[in-house]
Amino acid sequence: MRKKIVAGNWKMNKNLQEGLALAQELDAALKGKTVNCDVVIGTPFIHLTSVVNAVDTTKIGVAAQNCADKASGAYTGEVSAEMVASTGAKYVILGHSERRAYYHETAEILKEKVLLALKNNLTPIFCIGEVLEEREAGRHFEVVKSQIEESLFDLSAEDFSKIVLAYEPVWAIGTGKTATAEQAQEMHAFIRKTLAGKYGEEVADNTSILYGGSCNASNAKELFANPDVDGGLIGGASLGVDKFMPIVEAF
Ligand code: PEP
Repeated sequence: MRKKIVAGNWKMNKNLQEGLALAQELDAALKGKTVNCDVVIGTPFIHLTSVVNAVDTTKIGVAAQNCADKASGAYTGEVSAEMVASTGAKYVILGHSERRAYYHETAEILKEKVLLALKNNLTPIFCIGEVLEEREAGRHFEVVKSQIEESLFDLSAEDFSKIVLAYEPVWAIGTGKTATAEQAQEMHAFIRKTLAGKYGEEVADNTSILYGGSCNASNAKELFANPDVDGGLIGGASLGVDKFMPIVEAF
């Protein structure tokens, strides 16, 4: 059975003290509570160790938002997958559209990052999604399929089964414009069919596919009610426990 996951992506928000306070508040909100999904928070690199030490990591998985495409060495300013794993973080968000667009992360670079993440026992939360012009041109399925094929389809079925996917239509990220539940389900079903074609029904059925893009307390229930939507990757609404907990509790 595939996992239901609600993952926060804090992006470049919250200084260390603020981030720690947010993580502790979420930890307190989850204490003694049974929720029907795994909860993950994606923090800036420098917060990882403090957040891992501050929360009950059996209830909150901690994610980096990126890792280097090289294992180690003279790459000033980079943070390796091994370093991320050494903090106790268990996940890494890869291929976010902001990294693809602003930092020119190509399919090839992302392929390397995925391999290094897996080598270091991190679960990649791999983001895919089309921009508005691609959707308007009716190319959204083709674009998403290529993103998956180009960065992930050289993986063995065993390795692929460790990946979590996040479908994030770029036009819905941070815009307040959510994909409709029908648009999300249509794409998620298409993604699952694409996975089944490559790795078989069992792997496809067991892959968690999250939706991301202006998901919030008011639309999460409707989005998550779809059979192929296994949770959410949440940006803006992950920056406050009052906004994030209702999404966690939408399952
Ligand atoms: C994101 O950046 O992953 C995201 C989904 O952002 P938002 O929820 O703010 O649209």
